[in-house]
Amino acid sequence: MKIQTKIVLPIFIAITVILSLATFYSYFYSAENLKERIFAHLETTAQSRAHNIETQLEMEKELIQSIALIGKIEKLLLTSGNDSSYDEQVLAVNERLQKIVNSIDHVLSVRVLDKDNILIASTDPELIGSDYSESAFFKENPERKTEIKFVDDPDLGVVLGIVSPIYNQETNEYLGMVGGITSFKHFNEIVLDKTGLGETGETYLINEESYAISPLAQTENVILEQKIDTVNSSKCFSYVEDEGEHEEHEEGHIKQYGEESVEIFPDYIGNSVIGTHVHIPEMGWCLLAEIDESEAMISIKNQLIFAITSILIVFVILFATIYFVAKYITKPITLLKEGTAIIGKGNLDYKVGTDSDDEVGQLSRSFDEMTKAIKKSRAEVDQKVEDQTKEIRKNADQISKDKNKIETIIQGIGDGVFVVDVDLKITLFNPVASRMSGFSEKEALGEKYQNVLKFVYESDTDKVNDKFIKDAIATGKPQSMSNHTLLITKKGKQISVADSAAPLINKKGQIVGCVVVFRDATKEREIDRMKTEFVSVASHQLKTPLTGIKWMSELLLREKLNSKQKEYALDVNTSANKLTKLVDNLLNVSHIETGKKFDIEKVNTNVIKLIDSAIKIVEKNNNNKKIPIVKSKETPSKLIINIDPGKIKQAISNLIDNAVKYSKQGGTIEVSCLQNEDGIMLSVKDNGIGIPLKQQDRIFEKFFRADNVVQYETGGTGLGLYIVKAIIEAHGGKIWFESDENEGTTFYAELPVK
Ligand code: ADP
Repeated sequence: MKIQTKIVLPIFIAITVILSLATFYSYFYSAENLKERIFAHLETTAQSRAHNIETQLEMEKELIQSIALIGKIEKLLLTSGNDSSYDEQVLAVNERLQKIVNSIDHVLSVRVLDKDNILIASTDPELIGSDYSESAFFKENPERKTEIKFVDDPDLGVVLGIVSPIYNQETNEYLGMVGGITSFKHFNEIVLDKTGLGETGETYLINEESYAISPLAQTENVILEQKIDTVNSSKCFSYVEDEGEHEEHEEGHIKQYGEESVEIFPDYIGNSVIGTHVHIPEMGWCLLAEIDESEAMISIKNQLIFAITSILIVFVILFATIYFVAKYITKPITLLKEGTAIIGKGNLDYKVGTDSDDEVGQLSRSFDEMTKAIKKSRAEVDQKVEDQTKEIRKNADQISKDKNKIETIIQGIGDGVFVVDVDLKITLFNPVASRMSGFSEKEALGEKYQNVLKFVYESDTDKVNDKFIKDAIATGKPQSMSNHTLLITKKGKQISVADSAAPLINKKGQIVGCVVVFRDATKEREIDRMKTEFVSVASHQLKTPLTGIKWMSELLLREKLNSKQKEYALDVNTSANKLTKLVDNLLNVSHIETGKKFDIEKVNTNVIKLIDSAIKIVEKNNNNKKIPIVKSKETPSKLIINIDPGKIKQAISNLIDNAVKYSKQGGTIEVSCLQNEDGIMLSVKDNGIGIPLKQQDRIFEKFFRADNVVQYETGGTGLGLYIVKAIIEAHGGKIWFESDENEGTTFYAELPVK
């Protein structure tokens, strides 16, 4: 519901209800009042007219009584009919009576009766001598009182008959009666007077039998014919019947109902009227006064119409006023609402502020302030978003470029590349990997890598070789695929492969997967195999003549030779020894390369003795620099271990020989051998030229020689450490070293006891 409606509706309803109640209350109150006033007016009129009638009746009676006192009449009545003056007296009385009739308009006739009710004088002389004994006047009036009666005379019509007794003034003896007939006209004049009764109001008289005795306004020829049987008439007479229960008014002779609400009842022709009545006890009549309800109520109806019209006009004016006032009050709110809707759609430049000083005006201005603040902060946010978007876009471009670059590299790389996540599922698979394995990129992505890329050992194709991948993920360090690994393709073909696995580490340092690079090593293997075969064959072929040369040179040295000859024979012997050693090394290498294990024959050996022996050999053969070779103080004199003494001695000799070779004059070599929980730990420490850091990881490769030794010592082959490592590993041991360039090197070899 709108605020305007909320304001208009309750006010309008409240005012409407109050106004309607007030109007209708005042209408009903004034209607009741009006009825009471009309009734009171009617009542007053009726009473005044009844009073007039009673006065008139009294006057009639007094007139006849005054005639009864006329002396001539008394005298006539005292005179006997036989008396000579009797006729004269009759004429005189007749004359007198005629004069009275002539002088009083409404008196129609006057008659004198003697005590026997015989007419003796009259304004109608022809009636003289008539007997009135049977007249109702005398029959019903034994006491001979002055009496007045309503008479419907066949000759005179409706008249009033009045009788009054005549007494002897002296003796008070009853002499006779005077009777007068007067017209009823002036009573009609009283009741028919319309004054104060409006259009439809009337007053009329009814006798004690309820017959109308005066004309009625609404019907003709009614005198003593129209019976009035209405609420009004019956109430008037019920008073007479039940006199005691009613209050008296107007000196006790005009009575009517007392306090009663105004009654509306049907009149003699059934019209709805308001009426009242006054009883006239003298004659037993009732004067009824009535007025049409429609006429009486017309002003009330007019008042009602006026009230309703006024209410309607007031309603319209009221509604219009409230509506416009409410509109005026709510206008700023409406503007505010429209404004907020516009602002809500995003137009922050819109101003809802209104000029009004009231709360709504203040609210609208506050709203503008708020919108301004929002606009400002939105502009700031927009700027920030724009800046960040630019940054993100830049980064995204860079990432996209980097990604494209990486993808291009990976796609174009000559080796097989695939990436697995920590669940070992393939997330990247390059074309070379696809070509080598026979699986498409689509088939590979999302699959567990061992379902697609089956790496097995060459020596045992049923055994899966995935240790290097698992180790890379577990340790977070790059791992190499062990030699002699085969890849079984989709079609079941076996390909020799080589290469490595590197862990993928995210910015938080978490390992998220592993990237594996592998290549087809079939040709390399073939070449290696051919080379090894060649070396093996060549070495065997060289060994026989070399042994001959060595043997012959030794024989020669035993002969008596001059110094020059001895020097040559010694050179021949030394070179033959070097060559023999080289050939032995090559043969060892070829053995290693072909995968054949060394023929290790383990016997319980005192390894300390082997060390001593190795030191002696080195000192004898190769220690021109006279570098002292010592055993550490901790080294025991005896340490029995189950090893191949020949091979281990070869390894120890090699390590000590290298230490001597790569030490400068003045250096020291310390050999140590200690037993620990796992086995024995052998070390050879020198303070020689050391191994450059960047080449340390290649030291155990065959034929590899560090840059710093190539010029320093030309005699090396790069095979010694390769063979030493193979010997130690063949015993289930480990070999490693620590070295700082120009500081020295320590080689460690650990051999398990079991
Ligand atoms: P070489 O016949 O060259 O000695 P090795 O296989 O025995 O072959 O050694 C390989 C290489 O390791 C050497 O050429 C040298 O660069 C390095 N090396 C081995 N031992 C030492 C050492 N004690 N001090 C410095 N470098 C060493």
